[in-house]
Amino acid sequence: MRGMAALTENQTKYRSVPMLRSVGGSIPRDVLGIIPELVARTTRMVPFAWTSGGVKVAMEDPYDTALHHIIEKRVGVPVIPHAASVDALDGALAQYGVDSRDDVRMLLRDARADDAIDALVRYAQANDAADIVMVFRRDGAAISARVDGFLVPVLTAPASAGILLLAALRQRIGQPHHMHRAAHRGTFRVAQGRTKSTDDSIAVRCAVMPAHDGERAVLCIANAALRQQSIETLGWPAHVLAIVRRALMRSSGLTVIVGPPGAGKTTALYALVRLLARDGTSTAAVEERIACDLEGVQQLEAQRGAMTEALRAILRESPAVIAVDALDDPEAVAMALHAALAGRRVIATMDVPDAATAQQRLRAAHVSSHVLAAVPYVIVVQRLVRAACPACVVARHLTETEQRVLAADAEAMTVFEAMEGVVMQTTVVPSVRGCDACGYTGYRGFACIAEALDSRAVDQGVDAPRASLLAAGMSRALAHETTLQEVLRVCRSGDRCAA
Ligand SMILES: [Zn+2]
Repeated sequence: MRGMAALTENQTKYRSVPMLRSVGGSIPRDVLGIIPELVARTTRMVPFAWTSGGVKVAMEDPYDTALHHIIEKRVGVPVIPHAASVDALDGALAQYGVDSRDDVRMLLRDARADDAIDALVRYAQANDAADIVMVFRRDGAAISARVDGFLVPVLTAPASAGILLLAALRQRIGQPHHMHRAAHRGTFRVAQGRTKSTDDSIAVRCAVMPAHDGERAVLCIANAALRQQSIETLGWPAHVLAIVRRALMRSSGLTVIVGPPGAGKTTALYALVRLLARDGTSTAAVEERIACDLEGVQQLEAQRGAMTEALRAILRESPAVIAVDALDDPEAVAMALHAALAGRRVIATMDVPDAATAQQRLRAAHVSSHVLAAVPYVIVVQRLVRAACPACVVARHLTETEQRVLAADAEAMTVFEAMEGVVMQTTVVPSVRGCDACGYTGYRGFACIAEALDSRAVDQGVDAPRASLLAAGMSRALAHETTLQEVLRVCRSGDRCAA
């Protein structure tokens, strides 16, 4: 969103950003809770009031649309940006309480690297971070955390502290001294809080690997529910499961999971890899970022742009199953198609919003048309929607405003009215109010909506999965698992990604 068009749009949208000298008074906990403390502190933005039009956020850089997106993705309402002075922001940030990063800094200063790792892991987990990324360079260490798919900087440390941190990590994952130049993976656990009980300890999968200018460590904070998912627990509808199973049973072919960033593609890919590698089938994976250790799978990390090189290296070993996260440039796509044609099962993710765009990518690969025609492929389109909070979801009819909004969206309207037994005026839909249990957001956790296109199913049009992704979402909403608003927001935001 940094192009000219976006700039003009933003100038119009934010022509008059209010300036705050002070955020004033105490911010209610439920409002503060919209943004995890870690994200608030590192991005310097603090939500301070709910309004009917969105959430008011005090920001150091009110024009940073990437930051707006973080909040909009989390709460599903527009951000009303306010520019805040440094003092005003510091005052607002102080309302989150003590800055836990200071504890980590202090531990690092005292050369207590092991305690610093524990504190970092607890901090990351408390802030809903999926992983911690540490980059060790000669001039210092940089630590970031991934929250809601966004990598946010947490803190930097001097090189000396970095060396101790890396050494402590290596010891925890049992990397032998003579193998320090090679990538190494392992797991360890961190006790929650002060109790040393292992029952509720946090499982961490850690990978240490050489990078072009130093070393890198990725600490994946186990999200038990997400990490251990099988294709049955992804939340795919039965017919999508059936299409994918059929594709995976073929001895060759391509299965691509598509969706915008944060749609749960990698989780789905891991579930497929786990399934295929289960019976000892030789499996190799090329990943932009190794998020998790996969048992029995040869994993290779490759930056964007270096994917073809990594793929070539893996193809030389002739694995039966190849996983790619994420397949983007035409050359990598061509290699994947050729591998599939040569009798391998290739599964991949692609950062595109829909099946039609994914098909365009396949066609844009430099392969002859008979190659594309000969490779059976399945495209799964996926989105994650926030799940309605069970504690505060209520059933009610659509308000007149909601009916108007829905009616203005021709495609959504068609899909909605085609749902079984739906009558706009009388059908009961879920509505969330917000409560203590969900931090007044109305949502807790995520649900998956998915649709699939099988190149071998001739009766399926290209547009079908797009319309039925909405249908898949709406049927979840009618089952009160999420809301119509959330489904429309998520399905529509994917469209924006395409623009
Ligand atoms: Zn609730």
